[in-house]
Amino acid sequence: MFKDVIGHSNIKRQLITTLQSGRISHAQLFAGNTGYGSLALALAFAQYVFCTGNKKEDACGECPSCRQMQKLIHPDLHFVFPVVRKTKTPVSDEYISEWRSLLSKTAYFHLEDWYAEMGIEDNAQAAIYTEESGNILRKLHLKSFQSDYKIMIIWLPEKMNLECSNKLLKIIEEPYDKTLFLLVSEHPEQIINTIQSRTQRINIPPLTKTEIKQQLIQDKGIHAEKAEEYAHIAAGNWHSALCLLNESEEQIYNQEKFIQLMRLCWERKMLPVNTWVNEMHSLGRERQKSFLIHSLRMLRENFVKNFRIGELNYMTERECNFSVKFAPYIHEGNIIPLTEEFEKAYHDISRNGNGKIIFTDLCIKVMQNIRP
Ligand SMILES: [Zn+2]
Repeated sequence: MFKDVIGHSNIKRQLITTLQSGRISHAQLFAGNTGYGSLALALAFAQYVFCTGNKKEDACGECPSCRQMQKLIHPDLHFVFPVVRKTKTPVSDEYISEWRSLLSKTAYFHLEDWYAEMGIEDNAQAAIYTEESGNILRKLHLKSFQSDYKIMIIWLPEKMNLECSNKLLKIIEEPYDKTLFLLVSEHPEQIINTIQSRTQRINIPPLTKTEIKQQLIQDKGIHAEKAEEYAHIAAGNWHSALCLLNESEEQIYNQEKFIQLMRLCWERKMLPVNTWVNEMHSLGRERQKSFLIHSLRMLRENFVKNFRIGELNYMTERECNFSVKFAPYIHEGNIIPLTEEFEKAYHDISRNGNGKIIFTDLCIKVMQNIRP
């Protein structure tokens, strides 16, 4: 619903007015990053159009149409999005359950998230293939099931190959009655000009820093100071703000594991060390690397902390708290061998070495160096 879309109050009002006044354009181009809310707005608008309840500033959220929209199963709503050629017919319908699964989590995501949901490598080329145009035609030929309108949301039309684009152009030029095309594009300049010129363009600007900050505080319970910092880095993109949040969760986990490792190695408790190694081994390679990078940073920060030059320290409050007592254990006598051991572990993990052996070896070296 519109209320779930962050910011963009002017655009929401404009969309509502076009429907209320019956001046609705049959092909609209939502131009802006998905992380700014372009797809979220298109979805909210579709729900508003379909809603059969008492709708004023927003859909009612309760009528049968709204309920179907919330589950993304409204029979008059169709999706087209980039897919990979796994089968003979690479069309969106092949991936509709993955699409619904991603969308039910968030309408603010990145192409990489979509790749991950489809279970494909980042470097694979997803596209909207020629086969899709037949599918679009077939769906629009159908009579609408329960709404006046049929709505087709095309996410990233710039990924459409030329043949498909030309076929789509024909449909847009000679529209079926009561059919709405909502094109959601991050790079509208890459869409063929003839389609661009036949759509009504709605520019979706980045969110303001205040909007992101407020959302982080209200929706995610982030402290105002931290929210300000994240909002600044996110630069108008809610998806980026969420990524920062997740990164910080990873950072907290890494710090917990670092503290455990140092304590267990100091105490030389082999059995719990073994449990710790097993946990690290169970993480994915990227998480293992992330932990090792974090540890290298912590070694450096704790070593530097001993010189008591505050401005040279880059630690969060949480990390600082541990360092108060821990820093003296990282000193001139062990900083170099410890750093070398963590770097070696990083190198070996990167080369697909066995995590169990690498982390066990690392623990033994930490024991030898932290308390000779
Ligand atoms: Zn409704």
